Amino acid sequence: MAEQERYEESHLYKIRHSAAHVMAQAVLELFPEGKFTIGPPIENGFYYDFDLPRNLTPDDLEQIEKRMRQIIQGKHAFKKTIVSAEEAKRIFADQPYKLELIEGLEKGRLDEYGNPVQERPEISIYEHDTFFDLCRGPHVENTSEIRPDALKLMNVAGAYWRGDEKNKMLQRIYGTAWEKVDDLKGYLWKLEEAKKRDHRRLGKELDLFSVSEDVGAGLILWHPKGAMIRVLVEDFSRNAHLENGYEWVFSPHIGRAYLWQTSGHLDFYKEGMYSPMDIEGEPYYAKPMNCPFHIEIFKSHLRSYRDLPRRYAEYGTVYRYERSGVLHGLTRVRGFTQDDAHIFCRPNQVEEEISRALEFSLYVLRSMGLTEFKAYLSTMPEKYVGNTANWEKAIEALRRAIEAHNLPYQVDEGGGAFYGPKIDLKVMDALGREWQLSTIQFDFNLPERFGLEYIGEDGQPHQPYMVHRALLGSMERFFGVLIEHFGGAFPVWMAPVQTVVIPIADRHLDYAHEVAQKLRAEGLRVELDERSERMNAKIRDAQKQKIPYMLVIGDNEMNAGRVSLRVRDGSQQNNIPLAEFVARAKDRIARRAAEL
Ligand SMILES: [Zn+2]
Ligand SMILES: [Zn+2]
Repeated sequence: MAEQERYEESHLYKIRHSAAHVMAQAVLELFPEGKFTIGPPIENGFYYDFDLPRNLTPDDLEQIEKRMRQIIQGKHAFKKTIVSAEEAKRIFADQPYKLELIEGLEKGRLDEYGNPVQERPEISIYEHDTFFDLCRGPHVENTSEIRPDALKLMNVAGAYWRGDEKNKMLQRIYGTAWEKVDDLKGYLWKLEEAKKRDHRRLGKELDLFSVSEDVGAGLILWHPKGAMIRVLVEDFSRNAHLENGYEWVFSPHIGRAYLWQTSGHLDFYKEGMYSPMDIEGEPYYAKPMNCPFHIEIFKSHLRSYRDLPRRYAEYGTVYRYERSGVLHGLTRVRGFTQDDAHIFCRPNQVEEEISRALEFSLYVLRSMGLTEFKAYLSTMPEKYVGNTANWEKAIEALRRAIEAHNLPYQVDEGGGAFYGPKIDLKVMDALGREWQLSTIQFDFNLPERFGLEYIGEDGQPHQPYMVHRALLGSMERFFGVLIEHFGGAFPVWMAPVQTVVIPIADRHLDYAHEVAQKLRAEGLRVELDERSERMNAKIRDAQKQKIPYMLVIGDNEMNAGRVSLRVRDGSQQNNIPLAEFVARAKDRIARRAAEL
């Protein structure tokens, strides 16, 4: 069962749906002339949309919430009644939005949430206390099942009736409700924490990246500290690829229309591509994907079965059209670099290749400090290319790979691309949020379109199998995930500045320089804070910059030729030999350890 279905059958879902009704009752008591529309449960809570004579204030929310608690304590039962459309219209005679919904139900086209329905559903009314709503349920038995202390109204936002900007703008009140007080507390903590970890905020505070209006929306500028992290991640991954039998390639950012015609991108993906540029009368397109270039490299030689598999990897920068409204920090951008690879192999090699790719993916992600994964297996959609038997075999190969790696997984029936089934790997970050990163996809389409061949053992030409895979996905998006996962407090190996040397007074400067120099010679990334600020201010700033190690140098340290270590986690080691600190730092780096 899909997660959403499980949620819809849960008690929590009923609690939230019931809380939405109670909220609507409270709002309409406050605004008797108000009109109410729809109010479903959503992930983490519920909302209800209202058409009210004035804008709601924070005071209103407080009052509504208070009134909700009173209603809840009244232990009012929820009662369902089946009514005819005529009765329903009588009940909601002064509620134009409800009348519109009833008409939709009557015609059997839309349900009470405005979703299309196949068959004409029955019209039901749920009632509690003095409140009636057009509703299919389900609800809790009575209002006391909503915990008054596990309930909170969050905010008000504008929302168009039926989500259509041609319609009237309504006021949407968001609320959250939980089974236990602790669940509410945990949820609010997570929200607070997510705000603190927002990569756009940390990107600025830690000087990692920016977006410039002059450059254009959705185009990322990597600042030195952000770029340092990217270099470290790329270097690690580049070596790991080499150890895993990949070959690195580079390809250009643009290609002839002819190429994108052959690949089918101009037929199937044009809305994701930018307008062409004219080069000597011929249209060229910025690449939305790297695949055709790798295919051309494969095609540049006659391949024998002995040459396979070939695994081409590239940090390939692609450009995809995204509307400005959906752009978001690093996670939704217009130009990004994929850690992309294409595997060309014989049919009898593909199962092992899939398994290796998944193994490799998990290894790289774990090395980055991500440890919780969930796999999604997407199978054959209605429209597809290739033959069914190959699809079946490919899906089974993907499934066996997931199971062999003991990953929890869900099957997305029919969710594959038209050209092949795939595994998507989502990681859970420190706040339990899921991010889709890796993908491993079969392709039954491109080898055909490009006429790929290899000469088999039988001396005859055969079509190779092709697999697309990206591990971190897009470097931009992955960086956004990393920032939020670590809250900007990167592990030592990844930290752009690993150590800051803090002299207490000017007379310690020479020794501080010497210490910094020695650390640099050991390969550590070091900053020296020479400002004439007080030590505490320097420590505070280093702490804000989330630098793992601070080496404080005063008279004692200078005279003994030692350092005092302050660690980002607050622990301290006074007057230790520099070599002891170097050994500690190097150990953490070598192990890419999470601990400091
Ligand atoms: Zn309802
Ligand atoms: Zn590809």
